[in-house]
Amino acid sequence: MKENNCSNGSSGSKRGKGCLEFFRCFLLLRLLLLLVSATCLVWPSFGAETLPYGELFTDGPSNKPWVALTFDDGPGSDTPKFLEMLRRYDAKATFFMMGSQVKQHPDVAREVQKEGHLIGNHTFSHPNFYFYKKEDKREKLKSEIESGREAILGATGSDPVFLRMPNGYVRDWVKEVAQEEKVILVNWTYGSDWTKIDTAQMLKGYLSHLHSGAVLLFHDGGKDRSRTLSILEKVLKEMEKKNLKAVRVDEILGLSE
Ligand SMILES: [Zn+2]
Repeated sequence: MKENNCSNGSSGSKRGKGCLEFFRCFLLLRLLLLLVSATCLVWPSFGAETLPYGELFTDGPSNKPWVALTFDDGPGSDTPKFLEMLRRYDAKATFFMMGSQVKQHPDVAREVQKEGHLIGNHTFSHPNFYFYKKEDKREKLKSEIESGREAILGATGSDPVFLRMPNGYVRDWVKEVAQEEKVILVNWTYGSDWTKIDTAQMLKGYLSHLHSGAVLLFHDGGKDRSRTLSILEKVLKEMEKKNLKAVRVDEILGLSE
């Protein structure tokens, strides 16, 4: 211990070596602390009591080889096909469900949960706030979040913490409501399976966004999803090639319990 006491400027060789070692350790420790604080600045970690309610995420950190696959507007009659495909590729995903769909397919919602995927809230009836011009938009969103949550809770017993807004509509007032409702907003890095672009372009779009930290948007609900399924399979194959792991949004955002 006394060799670490370098304050008196002794020139003894044994003491000098001790000082040098001490300073080496000290510098190493400083470096480690700097690295830890730099990592925290890039991506803060959250405890359960400090969840970032009301914040919006569109992608995750790129420090790990992972991608978050997300599926909206279900559960529907095609959802089991998505579950089967994800199982084949050992992929975990997040399903942003509409409360009205959960009411129609509670067994499918339970199946999604049983498979280890995360269920997020996508409101009850998917109102498009780009066109909602009434004064009561805040109250409307609150009741949509709450009834969506109740439907998911009723079918699966779990309370969704993540919210994807219908049509990805996010404004400051939406963030305020999300904070009050204790939900975290998640949009996406890339998605195009609902657009009219041709299949080759669509696939190209998904594949070109396959990088660490990406959040990809697909739809398992709505009309026939065979095109989405075929694109998803190619995306999963490419992910295997690139060693990218498919994880849930709570994992990619560092918010899983
Ligand atoms: Zn939607």
